[in-house]
Amino acid sequence: MKRNHSLASRTLRLAILRIGLVSICASAISYFLNHSTIEDAVRKQLLLSTEQTIQRESLPFREIQELERNFLDEFRAIDTDPHSRSGLVKDFDQIFYRHTDSSYTQRPGLFEGDALPDGRRFGGMSATYAPDISPNDDIKARFTLSYILSHKYGSTAKGRLFNFYGVVPEKGFPIYQAADIAKAFTYTGPEALKLDTYEFYSHGFSSPNNNTFFTRMYWDYSNNAWMTTVATPDIADASGKHRILACVDVLLDELMRRIAHPAIQGAYSTLFLDDGEGTLIYHPNFMDAIKKSEGHASIRSLKIKNDYPLLAASATLSPGKVVLVDMKDDIIAVGRIPETPGVLTIHYPRALMQPAILQNLAIVIALGILTLLVEIFIIRSILQNQVAIPLSHLIRATRLVGSSKERLNASDLPTQSQDEIGELARDFSHMAERVQDAHEQLAIKVQERTVALEEANQKLMTLSVTDELTGIANRRRFDEALASEWRRAQRTGSYLMLAMIDVDWFKKYNDHYGHQAGDDCLRNIAQTIAAHTNRAGDLVARYGGEEFGLIITTISAENALAFAQMLCETLEKINLPHAMSPLGHVTVSIGVACTVHGEHESAEDLLRTADEALYSAKEQGRNQAMLYATPSELINGDGDHITSR
Ligand code: GH3
Ligand code: MG
Ligand code: MG
Repeated sequence: MKRNHSLASRTLRLAILRIGLVSICASAISYFLNHSTIEDAVRKQLLLSTEQTIQRESLPFREIQELERNFLDEFRAIDTDPHSRSGLVKDFDQIFYRHTDSSYTQRPGLFEGDALPDGRRFGGMSATYAPDISPNDDIKARFTLSYILSHKYGSTAKGRLFNFYGVVPEKGFPIYQAADIAKAFTYTGPEALKLDTYEFYSHGFSSPNNNTFFTRMYWDYSNNAWMTTVATPDIADASGKHRILACVDVLLDELMRRIAHPAIQGAYSTLFLDDGEGTLIYHPNFMDAIKKSEGHASIRSLKIKNDYPLLAASATLSPGKVVLVDMKDDIIAVGRIPETPGVLTIHYPRALMQPAILQNLAIVIALGILTLLVEIFIIRSILQNQVAIPLSHLIRATRLVGSSKERLNASDLPTQSQDEIGELARDFSHMAERVQDAHEQLAIKVQERTVALEEANQKLMTLSVTDELTGIANRRRFDEALASEWRRAQRTGSYLMLAMIDVDWFKKYNDHYGHQAGDDCLRNIAQTIAAHTNRAGDLVARYGGEEFGLIITTISAENALAFAQMLCETLEKINLPHAMSPLGHVTVSIGVACTVHGEHESAEDLLRTADEALYSAKEQGRNQAMLYATPSELINGDGDHITSR
């Protein structure tokens, strides 16, 4: 099959291919560039956001520790001043009330804000004290001092911290908080307040140093909340004993809620302790296990293998620092919350980047398609208007020049165009003009030659059937006419008359007048006979030498004989002189034959009988016509029947 690719469609296909390839490359490059750009942006944002979060979450703990240290410093300063101590012992009896079971609480009304006789108020402060032994002055002084300072520091941070309390190791528990602890507990004996079982108490007073520590998270039944206690003991004395322990309880629910909703959309966070085990405080997938274990569940105990790399990363991390850990599905920021043992992780699923990358890719692809459409439109219009249409005009013109006699109209060609096609059209127009001129000249020449040839042919034809000397038909023409007339006569059953004419004593004429005169005489005789045989169908020809043949159309043999006799007489009358003839002028003898009685078998037969009649005419004295009637009978011009020899 012949494939007919037009210039325009081929160029368009190439353009589509080219732009398609460029678009695919651009898309691929864009994809990878976008991927790395977006990932870079995500990493930066993740780092920044995590740093901000751990700094923010560290703030309350920083305040707690500062408060606790300030409390302890002030406590120590007063505790070591004997003058202050004696005042505190006196205050003990003003502030506390001894119950019948030997336990103490603050006097009624103090929590609610009632003033002491000296005007001091301790609203929001409550206290329980269930001593193993009756309190001595030292215990009384520390218990009272803790009560007063807990009120001072707790009320300073009111609204920001849940509570503040300074515990004495002899199970004295003064606390600043919204609820009156003295009412929350019922005392059934000295052992009712089992402080030994509280982690802050047992750990705080057995600590070898004065470092701040965090307890495990625990469920606080009095507040119905998850909590941890931040506790700082004072510097132990030489025997390792502590005199006071500053504590603040922290509500974890708020913290958990904030951790559950990180600032970055689609990300999720975990919070665990930097204790090697990864003791969990918050993990969105394991909250049940965490709460059920009362703060004992950890990354290792729950075997959360995916998070093991985070444990490793956090081990070497200094407080306030954040590192990124690359996992297969997530990018994870790991940060130590300053002032706490807490490690915050923010998990950013890589799948979240996909829509942004795809969106950018879609923009590149859309731009590619737009470019393609514009290019197609431009190429199409350029090719159509400046190439395809002018070329089709040129093609039509080429065919016209090749096939038609019509002259090419130059205005049909794109000759006005200034580009290569215009140049081609102008050159073509000039060439077509020259070709068409040459065509026309050739046609004229051919026409002329054809006419000349036809004339020459005509002449040749005439010459071939004309006798040169006399100008009448020649022997060849005579033979043809005789043959065709013979056939016609056979076909139609009509008569065919033939006469043979011979000049009498012509040899003598030549001898006497010369051959030139003989020729003139022959011409004369021929013209005379021709002048009398101009009826349609008659033919007179020079048969040879001084003999003529005559084919006559007539209706009877008698008519033919009469005609022949008339010819003899006519020639006699024009009286061409012939000195050597006994008659004195030129005469002819004529033998006539016709296809009568069906006696002749061929044209030659007819010719032979005419010759026989001619011979007889000569014999009978010349200058006469003789008709061959039967093989034994001839008839002369006078109608006399002459018996043949
Ligand atoms: P007859 O009456 O018996 O016919 O006598 P004749 O002299 O005509 O007899 P013949 O037929 O023997 O002679 C014919 C002569 O015609 C011979 C020749 O010299 C002459 N002749 C034949 N052809 C030409 C010709 O073309 N030109 C001239 N000038 N003479 C010719
Ligand atoms: Mg003769
Ligand atoms: Mg003769």
